[in-house]
Amino acid sequence: MEARCQCGSVVFKTPLEKPLALYICHCADCRRQTSSAFGTSAIFPTFSIPNTDLLSCYSRPTTSGDTLYCYFCKVCGTRLVHMSPGKNVCSVKGGCLDGLDWNKAIHLWTKSAMVPIPEDAESHSGTSDISDYRACQEELDQPTNALG
Ligand SMILES: [Zn+2]
Ligand SMILES: [Zn+2]
Repeated sequence: MEARCQCGSVVFKTPLEKPLALYICHCADCRRQTSSAFGTSAIFPTFSIPNTDLLSCYSRPTTSGDTLYCYFCKVCGTRLVHMSPGKNVCSVKGGCLDGLDWNKAIHLWTKSAMVPIPEDAESHSGTSDISDYRACQEELDQPTNALG
């Protein structure tokens, strides 16, 4: 899939034509990170991003003890990709991708959602009912078993 930041300085292709999984996370962290009502994560096998001189990086520790590297366009600030070293998958922020099928998105942390959740969508209210993935999207960015 084609990914592009708002100003068009950073353009890249994902390694697959469809994500392995697509999440919409309604937790407070994702709300803050996006300055929006929720965050979105399209999970892909880890790949190297071109135009790295046009990217800046914000890194932060995760609750699982990893470091999450969050890449964004230096020019327009669009958050594009989240990665952790040693993980086999990464998260491309959904809004920068063309042609995503949002109907397949899995909703997380719906108990703190600010907007209605579609009734037919797969959804999880918080951490306790998700065994495969961690609670927050930014940790979910790196599900170790997404490739089976
Ligand atoms: Zn940009
Ligand atoms: Zn979240």
